[in-house]
Amino acid sequence: MKWTEDRNALTTQEAGRGRKGVRAVSANADVQELRRKLGEVSDVHNAVALLQWDQETCMPPKGAEARGHQLATLSAIKHRLFTAESLGTLLRELYARSDRLDPGDAKLVEVTLYDYDRATKLPEDFVHTVAAEQSRALEVWVEARRASDFALFRPNLNTLVQLARQKAEYFGYQESPYDALLEEFERGMTAAELNRIFGILAPEQSALVKRIVNAGQPDLPWLSGNWDESDQWDFSLRVLRDMGYDFEAGRQDRSVHPFSTCFDTRDVRVTTRLSEKALFSSLMSSMHEGGHALYMQGHAERDRRTFLCDAPSLGMHESQSRMWENMVGRSLPFWRHYLPVMRGYFPGRFDGVSPEDAYAAINLVQPSLIRVEADECTYNLHVIIRFELEVALIEGGLGVDEVPEAWNAKVNQYLGLHVPDDAHGCLQDIHWSHGAFGYFPTYALGNLYAAQLFETMLEQVPDLWGCVERADFAPVLAWLRDNIHVHGRRKLAHELVRDITGKDPAPDAYLAYLESKFGALYNLGP
Ligand code: ZN
Repeated sequence: MKWTEDRNALTTQEAGRGRKGVRAVSANADVQELRRKLGEVSDVHNAVALLQWDQETCMPPKGAEARGHQLATLSAIKHRLFTAESLGTLLRELYARSDRLDPGDAKLVEVTLYDYDRATKLPEDFVHTVAAEQSRALEVWVEARRASDFALFRPNLNTLVQLARQKAEYFGYQESPYDALLEEFERGMTAAELNRIFGILAPEQSALVKRIVNAGQPDLPWLSGNWDESDQWDFSLRVLRDMGYDFEAGRQDRSVHPFSTCFDTRDVRVTTRLSEKALFSSLMSSMHEGGHALYMQGHAERDRRTFLCDAPSLGMHESQSRMWENMVGRSLPFWRHYLPVMRGYFPGRFDGVSPEDAYAAINLVQPSLIRVEADECTYNLHVIIRFELEVALIEGGLGVDEVPEAWNAKVNQYLGLHVPDDAHGCLQDIHWSHGAFGYFPTYALGNLYAAQLFETMLEQVPDLWGCVERADFAPVLAWLRDNIHVHGRRKLAHELVRDITGKDPAPDAYLAYLESKFGALYNLGP
């Protein structure tokens, strides 16, 4: 998911005028007025997103300075519109009369009031301090990572941790200050619940990785060499179209870091990266971002120009991208269909290669030090390392000075690897320099939700694997649309998972998926 402007992180309290004569107007007219106001905020929000998309795809380098001003101005306007006292008054009055509203409108009021309350909880000067510290920290982090020297970044990280703790106090929490930060990305989730889930996941995944490492790797000589970028591009467009991505309501462009973004359900963009050396990289990026994009193209018509037109959490958004990328794109039925298709794009390059060979190649498991290069078996372990350190930093059990040592010890414990330097260790990710504590766990939750939802989809969609093997993805997309996409933010992530699968979010389905897939691929035996 794209790093977009965070609508909860900026705030300036506006001394707006109180709303007059509301009681005289019917609830229906007030809902119309609410929708009008939200439409304006949403338009500015989406204009910001469009400028950000342009910045990463088309903008010439010299445009950066002006773009910075444009983004800052529009973000401030959006924030002023959204935190206006008149909007708060209208929301509270409608909320008090929720039982007399249409249930769909009542939900709109409830979710928007939740956003409004969070957006107005942080004092203006605190928000400015955080923004200034974050941009300083980002600059220092870039330099520290280049020099592979954590000591350079340590004072900035220390400040950001203090500010995050203060932010948690402003938001309020019951058990852990970390919960207040997590809430921003995964509403309703807590550190205690994550500890429970990850406590089951980590030792099981770690043990599976050790068995795979001992089993040895397949030989893949055909995969080396250069792969034409324009053929990779054409192939990725073909797969996106097959998935059901609507090119009349979207487009694909090239960027250094792939992302997807939405200006409306009818204008949802994806980007992909291209590398001559990495055959599968562009395809998997396109399928991942395509999964996010199909979600955004599938939100309900009635929710356009409101903030219900979104996922309930980053974890749920990520479940959609990972499902398409991993459960579908890294399956054997998928390669039974697409290896013959790929032969047409790269004549002669797959002579003697079977769908089983392609399936093995795209599912290689190789413990590595870098999270963004991790495979399905090791990815969550990278996330759990960061989660455990974040919680300890925010709760105070770990000092900032101790981060590199603690990081390296956990990488050794979970992945069996030695960290040679900070650039390959605790300085590799951008997130902490943004002060985004609580973000990492959503990646792992995305994997867990994806597996649990996919398990149910397999029971409910007749001959699902046959459909994949024919590249007939319509039944898959229809199931996702009906069960997930259309609800937007009307249900929380754990409510959606429970309603669809009959169970609370749990690691069982993901562990069973890994064991069955990689047990067979690596001949691990029972
Ligand atoms: Zn994603």
